[in-house]
Amino acid sequence: MRDRPAPLAVLATSVVEPKLDLRSATLDEACGFAVAQGWPRFRGEQIWRWVHDKAARSFDDMTNLGRETRARLAETAVIGGLTVAEVQTSHDGTRKLRLVTHDGQSIESVVIPDGDKTTQCISSQVGCAVDCQFCATAKLGLRRNLDAGEIVDQVYLARRLLADVEPGRRISNLVYMGMGEPLHNYDNLVRSLGILTHDKGAGLSQRRITVSTSGLVPKLERLGGEDVRPNLAVSLNAPNDAIRDAIMPINRKWNIAKLLGALRAYPLEQRRRITFEYVLLAGVNDALDHAAQLSRLLRGIKCKVNLIPFNPHPEAPYTRPSHAAVAAFQEECRRLGMPTYLRIPRGDDIDAACGQLANRSASSPLVALTRRRGLPSPPPVE
Ligand code: SAH
Ligand code: SF4
Repeated sequence: MRDRPAPLAVLATSVVEPKLDLRSATLDEACGFAVAQGWPRFRGEQIWRWVHDKAARSFDDMTNLGRETRARLAETAVIGGLTVAEVQTSHDGTRKLRLVTHDGQSIESVVIPDGDKTTQCISSQVGCAVDCQFCATAKLGLRRNLDAGEIVDQVYLARRLLADVEPGRRISNLVYMGMGEPLHNYDNLVRSLGILTHDKGAGLSQRRITVSTSGLVPKLERLGGEDVRPNLAVSLNAPNDAIRDAIMPINRKWNIAKLLGALRAYPLEQRRRITFEYVLLAGVNDALDHAAQLSRLLRGIKCKVNLIPFNPHPEAPYTRPSHAAVAAFQEECRRLGMPTYLRIPRGDDIDAACGQLANRSASSPLVALTRRRGLPSPPPVE
């Protein structure tokens, strides 16, 4: 008898209100939640500040709240987020954090020191659905979106790590360039931007946040109308539709003309420029004539170009152009009047460089897959 499932009616009456995830909540939501508990609004702000300014990980950390309040919180709310599974440090000081979600998914976030500046590269999804042919993350497919709490917690965990290992160094810049396509997880992206830039929370400046996208045109148009407007980086990667179609299937849906049309209409603030990312693939998009085509495309757009020599990984059928070819391409871009910078690979010895984020730890499915297929490990970088 004891094993019989409870009748539906009993189940229905025992349904409990879902707990509020304070890590994903906005300040307004936290205040509304406090009022619903019968507390004053400011209690909501107090709690929110614990979670987003002081990065509290448990209600017991909230030392200025009474025991009863904390007990009630434990019944009605949770503090979501991630746990740190592994930290790898590169010879160049770059640190890659492997972080695990409550349902056991691994994601990666990279902290890159650069003089006084420290840039953190964060993930927006587990895997990615966009399927760019050169990208390791694409091979995972899309497992799921990260919720806003899982996005912002990457920053809080990195801050904690730095406070332990390198006190005095602070995250100064944030780029949504880790795993996933941020605009494909639009609502959580916008929510996370609101939380991270709030002056009562992490207080990051929107001028120091960059969202990188493969070019989801309707979402780009929407982003232009949001309160928090980050800098934009666009993975163009090709000087014409034929090449872009071949390496980025998304181009068949929104081609270069549509993408550039949306970017020309994007409300850029004064002195801001769009960054175009261009992954250099030997023999595919690195000819000098491609630089000339690129300069014609970008004419009239306030922008700069970031060249990223391809970071090899076992699943991609491409190679990195030689130093000489990369230098010649950059020189040609500059000669044609485009401000063009070379992205030096950072953390490539720990697979933390652009496009290498694919949970390639010993236990990851991708490593298991490549081992099964007997594929070689990534060739050394020139
Ligand atoms: N999905 C977003 C952000 C994550 S990808 C986007 O595509 O913009 C971040 C950057 O890494 C993109 O500019 C992408 O073109 C680049 N990238 C992907 N795979 C790469 C590889 N193997 N080598 C070098 N850059 C790569
Ligand atoms: Fe996704 Fe960006 Fe990789 Fe393309 S480059 S598959 S959009 S993560």
